[in-house]
Order: sequence, then structure tokens, then C-alpha cells
Amino acid sequence: MPDPRKTFFITTPIYYVNDVPHVGHAYTTIAADAVARYKRLDGYRVFFLTGTDEHGQKVHQAAQKTGVGPQQHVDALHQRFKDLWKRFEISNDDFIRTTEERHKSVVRDILQRLYDQGEIYKASYEGWYCLPDERFWTEKDLVNGNCPECGRAVDKIQEHNYFFKMGQYRDWLSGHIRQNENFIQPASRRNEVLGFLNKPLEDLCISRPRERLPWGIPLPFDDNYVTYVWFDALINYVSVHGPLEEIRRCGFWPCDHHLVGKDILTTHAVYWSTMLKATGLELPKSIFAHGWWTVNGQKMSKSQRNVVEPNLLVDRFGADAIRYFLLREVPFGQDGDFSREALIGRINSDLANNLGNLLNRALNMLDKYYAGVVPAPNGQLPEDARLLDKASETARETHALFDHLGFNKILIKIWELVDAANVYINDMAPWNLFKTEEGKARLATVMYNSAEAIRTIAILIHPFMPETAAKIFRQLGIGESVESHGLESVRKWGGIQPGTKTAPGPQLFPRIEEEQAKKIMDTVQNASQAGTESAPAAQKQEEKLEQVSIEDFFKIDLRTGKIVEAEKVKKSKKLVKLKVDIGSEVRQVVAGIAESYEPERLVGRTIVLVANLKPATLMGIESQGMVLAASDNGKIVLAGFDEEVKPGVRVK
Ligand SMILES: [Zn+2]
Repeated sequence: MPDPRKTFFITTPIYYVNDVPHVGHAYTTIAADAVARYKRLDGYRVFFLTGTDEHGQKVHQAAQKTGVGPQQHVDALHQRFKDLWKRFEISNDDFIRTTEERHKSVVRDILQRLYDQGEIYKASYEGWYCLPDERFWTEKDLVNGNCPECGRAVDKIQEHNYFFKMGQYRDWLSGHIRQNENFIQPASRRNEVLGFLNKPLEDLCISRPRERLPWGIPLPFDDNYVTYVWFDALINYVSVHGPLEEIRRCGFWPCDHHLVGKDILTTHAVYWSTMLKATGLELPKSIFAHGWWTVNGQKMSKSQRNVVEPNLLVDRFGADAIRYFLLREVPFGQDGDFSREALIGRINSDLANNLGNLLNRALNMLDKYYAGVVPAPNGQLPEDARLLDKASETARETHALFDHLGFNKILIKIWELVDAANVYINDMAPWNLFKTEEGKARLATVMYNSAEAIRTIAILIHPFMPETAAKIFRQLGIGESVESHGLESVRKWGGIQPGTKTAPGPQLFPRIEEEQAKKIMDTVQNASQAGTESAPAAQKQEEKLEQVSIEDFFKIDLRTGKIVEAEKVKKSKKLVKLKVDIGSEVRQVVAGIAESYEPERLVGRTIVLVANLKPATLMGIESQGMVLAASDNGKIVLAGFDEEVKPGVRVK
């Protein structure tokens, strides 16, 4: 039973609803989930929050492009995050959206209070505005006349706006950071923020004129303005608890950990802290900034992102393998690199070999020597004590590491216990004990300890791999959930009951051979580039929204072509070899239309050809172009014209 006095609140940032969910979002959310699950195991009443940030210029513009209202637009888009979190087994207790009334009312309340207290004033403002970043810069901020953050061109803007008196809090904030060692983690980031606070701190512009940006929360004291997105978004961490009076009563404030990417540390450490101070609320206990992922050594870009499209990774490797990899591979706080070799390496060595084999061999031996029933131990010897000590040491050390989110060290420790259990089985050699009557008495203890070690490991890995932990419990034959056993039960030996009937199942993590690995990664890559195959519906919606410029479209050379010859490709059900006259030349094209068109019916038809496609070889025949056709539930219909057009005419 959770102890009502032990409460724990952890958050991810609320993600910008317009972003396509990528591995960076997954990383923060999985990390928060691991902590939340661990604290629940430890008897805490946990509140784990994530959500979406749904206001701002970019959302407004994207909605305009799609032709739907902004609310409809965000209603559709936010679902992609919810869907992805379900797939990754994220156990968030709430999902907040900044367009919800429960949030907006708290934002208005805080704004009104600060305004009444004289913390907000109106002033004329001249500055340089970066539209994509929605940020103002002063002249001296600019780098070569461009936005210092993204390098893009900025616009000069002069207008009246409202400002929050953030500058007055500089010395106080600097002192708070110095006095509270854990407030900003890791230490390197803490020093960065202190460095930032060495310079003068300007007041924060918290409004945008409504005529320029209609999509936001109107200021309660001036309807001509909406709230700056950051000022709006940060408040989610408290608005989720209800009206301001509730925040002090809910038991979940101050927050234990805000997890953020390093790029948004300043907004959290400086904007949010001073906003809370002015509102009279306590500051969070910790803001932890983690690093970024590169892909095969390169910065994640739109095309690189494809390689690690999170939905496809779950499809191919399962959520737990990805969760494990992300938290094991690099220390939280540092940058990491996502590569096929590293991922497959972890799956094969740590998961398939070490963990998977431990379970398999223990279950096999229990089956062979005890008909699958866990025997009662028969007194512990000093050589058993080493394993028992290792288990309690692991529980103790990982506990301390959780306070500083040392995920990779925790997993290294747990795997030392996995190794210790494998070594124990090797050293005790149950197969020899089984040969003698004296050995058999000893065998019961050895097999009991092996099963109990595995139960302990399952509980310890639950925060990282909840599905795997549950599978191990099932295969051990334990009827209760991992959560119900809890951390208390790993602190003392003996949680598995003698007489438990095991239920061996499939391997936890089948080994991935190199050839197979390559194939998997190629399909992950190709599928995400083509936008097909198992990308969930929400993903597809994004592609509809994705737009190309007219220049991009004109890179494709579409030509009219007249089919002058057509024959079926031997040994292929679908393919037809065509000769197509495109005016300047006759092209050989292989098209997958044989199931819908008889070759003889094709001759004489005018079709649309992609004339500048790289040649490809299909069934040994070179294809010098692609015929446009619609595929409607398997029926192929060629694109054509309702009047005769001569060959070689550009189609646009
Ligand atoms: Zn910018």
C-alpha cells in the first residue's frame, strides 16, 4: 500500500504539438517513466505528468495551411503523442493540454495576480523577432544579423507589449541555485545557468498582440493580447493540480523532478523559477537537463530521424529493448549516439545472452529436476551468501543512484547481479548435484536461490522494462504483479514461495543475427522514408500535413508518353514491360499493372511518366521511368487525360 505521506511528482516537458514525435521525446518520457515506476515500487504516491503545448504561432500557421481551425488541428495532432506513449508502456497519471480550460483558467489567474501585484507592466518594445522560434532578440543578441538560436533571418518589430519583471530576481535566483546543490542537475548545466545569471537579466516579454497572433490565451487584463507561449506552457506543471489554492494542498508541490532537454533548461531554470517566486509558490526540488541523441554520429535531422522513428523501432525491436538501450547506453545528462550496431549489440549481449539465458537455463533445470516446481531451500551455505549479499547490495546501491537519475549506472549494477546469478549456477553445477543423494539435498537450495535471484532481478528491471519483468514473473509462475511485490521484497531474501509451479514461455529476447539486423534496420529506414508500413494513423496524418515547395515539386519531371509496345514479364504476376514514346525518345519501363491491364489493351494509351527517376532493375529488366497510377484496394487505374495529348508534353 502506498504511504500517503510519501508523495512524488515528476514531469516531462509538454511537447510542442506540431513536432513529429521522435526519439528525443521518447527518451525524456521513458526516463520519467522509469523514475515514476521505481517510486511506486518503493511505496510512494506518484504523480507523473506529460502533455502537449498547443498554442503559438507555428500551430496557428500550420492550422491555416491545413485549412482546419487551430483547435481541430491540435485535437488531431496531440493524439500522436498519446499513442506513442501507450506503445512505450508509459505510465503517466495525467496528460495535460494547454488548450484545456483547467489549464487556461490557472494561467489567467496567475497573470491577473501578477498584474495586480505590479509584477507586470506595459511598455513600448523594439526588437528583432525570430518567427520560427517565436522569440525576440536585442540587437546585440544577433549573430551576423540573424537569430542566435537557429541562424535564420529575423524581422524588426516595434510594438507595445506586457513585461514580467523578471530582471529583479537575478540575485535571488543565483543565490538559490548556489544554496541548493540539486536544484539544477547535472553540475555542468548548473554552472551554465549561473554563468547566464552573471549577465544582466532582462524583463520578460509575456504578450503577443492578438492581431499578429490570435492563437493563445488572452491576457485577462487586456483582451488585445495573448500570452507568450512559454509563459503559458510552463504553468502546466501547477495547473494540472487545479486552482492555485489547491496547489498547496495537493501534496505534489513542489515538484521532485522536472526532466528537460538541455535546450530548454534556461526557460525552466530562469523563467519558471522567477514566475513561481513572483506567484508565491515554492520552486521545484530539481530540474534535470539531459543530453541529445545523434544518429550514427550525425545530428538528428529530418531524414536522420527516419532511422529512429520511434513507432517503427517499437514494431521491430519491442518497447522494452528500446527503453533499455536508451537508458543504458549513455549517462543521463550526456549526449548519446544511436547506431544499429550499438542497439543490436545491447540486445544480443545484455538481453538475449545474459538475462534471457539466465531465465532459460534456470527454468529448464527446475523442469528437469523438480518437474517445474520451485523446491524449498535447505539451509544456506557461505557460497550462497555471496549471491544473497550481491542481491541486497544491488538493491541498496541502485536505490541511491535513482536520486541522481543515474540510469546507466543502475542498469550496470543490475547486470552485475545477472552475471552473479549466472556464475552461481555455473559454480554450483546443479547437473553434478543431481547425480548423488547428498547432492540432491543441496540442489534444492541452489535451484531455490536461482529462482529467487531471477525474481529479484525482475523487480529491479521493472522500471526500465515493465513488460519483460511481467513476463519473467509469469514464467516463474508467480501469480501476483511485479508492483505488488515491490521494493520491500527485494530487500529480504525469500519472496518466491516454495511450491510455485513455473510456466516456461518463449525466449524473452531472441538473438538478432547480423544479416537479420541489417534487414530490419533497412526496412525501418525505408518504411519511414516511404511513409508506409505500420506507421500508425496519426503518423499518416502528419504526412498529409507535410508540405513541399513548388520548387521541390518541379524537380519531378512528369511527361506524357504513348505506350507503343507492351508485354508481360515472364515469371511475374504483376509486371509488364512497356516501350513508351516520350517525344524525344522511347523509354523502356517496367510497371506493376499486369493484374489490372491486359498488355494488348495498353498499346496506344497515353500515360503520365516520371521521366527523371533513377533507372532501376526489376526482374533483370531495366526500367527507365515510372508510370503514374492510382491503387485502390489492389485495383490499379492508370492516370490519363480526357483529351488526346501528344507524347513528351510536361505535366504539372
Ligand atoms: Zn530563430
